[in-house]
Amino acid sequence: MICVECGKEGKTYEGLCIDCYLKKKKLIEMPEKVEVVYCRNCPAYRLGNKWMKGNLKEDLKEYIKQQIEAKFPFQFEFDFESGKITCILEFEGRKIKKEKYIEIVEKERLCDKCSLQKGGYFEAILQIRGANEKDMKDIDKLIRRRISERDTFLLKKEEVKGGRDYYIGNKKVASKIAREIKEKYDAELSISSSLVGMKDGKRIYRDTYGIRLVEYKGKFVKIDDKLYRIVSAGKKIELEGMDGEKRYIYKDDLRKAVELDLKEREAIVLHEDEKGLYIMDTESYKTAFVNKPKNWKGKRKIKIVEYEGKFYAVGE
Ligand SMILES: [Zn+2]
Ligand SMILES: [Zn+2]
Repeated sequence: MICVECGKEGKTYEGLCIDCYLKKKKLIEMPEKVEVVYCRNCPAYRLGNKWMKGNLKEDLKEYIKQQIEAKFPFQFEFDFESGKITCILEFEGRKIKKEKYIEIVEKERLCDKCSLQKGGYFEAILQIRGANEKDMKDIDKLIRRRISERDTFLLKKEEVKGGRDYYIGNKKVASKIAREIKEKYDAELSISSSLVGMKDGKRIYRDTYGIRLVEYKGKFVKIDDKLYRIVSAGKKIELEGMDGEKRYIYKDDLRKAVELDLKEREAIVLHEDEKGLYIMDTESYKTAFVNKPKNWKGKRKIKIVEYEGKFYAVGE
């Protein structure tokens, strides 16, 4: 074949010899500039029309690479500091290096999420109730982690009587978090939805997830006419009878039990013998004989509860 440009004989590409082909043809098209929009309120940035978070340098490199049009495969390098793009094209055993400085146009605005947040928008409320201090701390961490992992925001959190409310931008995320907390803490979950308005002809609902943690530990229950104290609650509930008997039941069984509202109080140990302890109730000044609790270490004071006129030692 003959090159239509220079007349050289040999292999041709689109009618040209390799030299003329590489000289005449545009082998690669690199963008002049690229726009990065930073969110004014959070670490998000936008490349093209997608807001993202993560590693800007990596994402920008990938984004620029996608903007490049080349006739054949190429190696790609991008220097973030200088904006220099280096592409090495391989064609017929030859390596052709192309370089270009790209202009990075930087802008600032609010990302979609932040502008919703600034506008006070939210789709769901998570109401956490009945959590002790430690559980509340862990739940707070969990909620924050899940929100940052997923594409939403925490509009605000509010301390309310008996717990805390979390206002969350996205209801799907809120629902997932609610179910996760329910599973983890074996909590009760109630869901309600209320109509808050219309948008583009569609009804807008706001969901409320009521999550109630039940604190079992330390409560007193009566089962089979016997008084027990709940020692711990995992998959099974561990009970301790007033005589030290251990018993394990399922949470379902607990529903059949009678919960007793007994308050622990202090008693003074007057005397100890092999069988038990002689105590005096510090509230009524009544004296009584009680069983020794398992962990009894001979202290002068002991915790007791009173039930149907009888005293029970609960522990030190
Ligand atoms: Zn030629
Ligand atoms: Zn933002």
